[in-house]
Amino acid sequence: MGLEAALPPDTFVTTQLRRVINWARRSSLWPMPFATACCGIELMATACSRYDMARFGCEAVRFSPRQSDLMIVAGRVSTKMMPVLQRIYLQMSEPKWVISMGACASTGGVFDTYAVVQGVDQFIPVDVYVPGCPPRPEQLLEGIMAIQKHIDEEGLPPAGGKRVPLGVSIAPTHQVRPQPVGVSLGV
Ligand code: SF4
Repeated sequence: MGLEAALPPDTFVTTQLRRVINWARRSSLWPMPFATACCGIELMATACSRYDMARFGCEAVRFSPRQSDLMIVAGRVSTKMMPVLQRIYLQMSEPKWVISMGACASTGGVFDTYAVVQGVDQFIPVDVYVPGCPPRPEQLLEGIMAIQKHIDEEGLPPAGGKRVPLGVSIAPTHQVRPQPVGVSLGV
């Protein structure tokens, strides 16, 4: 990390235990991907070399909830699938965080039907909402950084205390254009 070059080898550094724990915790988030649709492809792109989630210390994607502390819901969730999502959330280790990625996970998106959950936050606590259809990888990274910033600032979680979802919404990083876009047939 360059510290060994900047500091003489026999130097002592003093800090608070809380800061060290929070630093370690935010630098080693282990995501649990719950990717059900197209947003999952953007999630995969975020983990690939171009965007490289590893730069933020959260590339150790686990498919085992007991080894994960960051759930990323990417895509629409059907009512039939929701109990599975809830069970996975409950099995994840504390403290844990949840990102709702994309319009479908946060609101049901264009799938305004009886079979699709109209927002996963009705069933599990969501900390960060990442907007878009699909969101770009940069936006997902911004959502992850919002959680890391929170971990940096908060103290150790209260023993047995109930954590309140952060409810942070990431702003779009692009200029939203009105839809539908006019098409010229060139005649
Ligand atoms: S928000 Fe858009 S891209 Fe994401 S799952 Fe829904 S339809 Fe697909």
